[in-house]
Amino acid sequence: MREVSTLLIKEKIKKMFIEMNHELGNDVEAFLNKTREIEESPIGREVLENLLDNLAIAKEKQIPICQDTGMAVVFLQIGQEVALTDMFIEEAVNQGVREAYQEGYLRKSVVKEPLERVNTKDNTPAVIHYEIVPGNRIKISAMAKGFGSENMGKIKMLNPSDGKEGIVKFVVDTVSDAGPNPCPPVIVGVGVGGTMEKAAILSKKALLRPLGERNPNQTYGEIEKDILGRINASGIGPQGFGGSCTAMAVHMEYYPTHIAGLPVAVNINCHVARHRESVI
Ligand code: SF4
Repeated sequence: MREVSTLLIKEKIKKMFIEMNHELGNDVEAFLNKTREIEESPIGREVLENLLDNLAIAKEKQIPICQDTGMAVVFLQIGQEVALTDMFIEEAVNQGVREAYQEGYLRKSVVKEPLERVNTKDNTPAVIHYEIVPGNRIKISAMAKGFGSENMGKIKMLNPSDGKEGIVKFVVDTVSDAGPNPCPPVIVGVGVGGTMEKAAILSKKALLRPLGERNPNQTYGEIEKDILGRINASGIGPQGFGGSCTAMAVHMEYYPTHIAGLPVAVNINCHVARHRESVI
């Protein structure tokens, strides 16, 4: 067994959340730069310029890219040959988030429970997904998820006979109905198969894929391309001001499912696609 201190995980989490709120990955910035050149609408191009200026200012001054600094979502892939020491793993993750949001002066957006809505004042707890995998490594994937886009997600239990066309229609309709609310250009995560909750988790996981990387399964890769084309033909455009760039990418993940079902979940991420990965 390889011993890994959860204090190390706490430190990594803290660093990741502070960094991602100030700087996006190069893939998003490169995409916005490229799109600025090809966006057909003048106002769409101007909006993209503004988004790029905003990213540059946030990076230079080390201030948050957006006022909504997100709810913390953490995927932990833990090798079966790892023995965790020191703090309880869940507390270590939450302590990392707590320190990031307090010391990084990031907005605290989490309420203790959904009805009374009293702020926890430290952005905890995080939503944590655990997966046990072979080996002796730990992979941490962390995401600060804004709720302008999170609120636009949907899930539907389709009939198996709805097939590919049913999936495409549901995803395109979901993004069209969302209009400017998720702050386009967006990334669309789609989870297909499993059970209702499995499809939802897959749709979130799909957002972690490097921007625009196609699903290696040819069928799913082609569906991603088809959906992306239809979304960008909708005319919603950057920030909803009209144009040809509404989505930067569509990423689909799938899982075996029941003979009687076809669950489909859509999770939308705004252009402030904040995530980081780290392997210990
Ligand atoms: S959806 Fe994204 S860009 Fe829009 S307010 Fe929320 S975090 Fe900010």
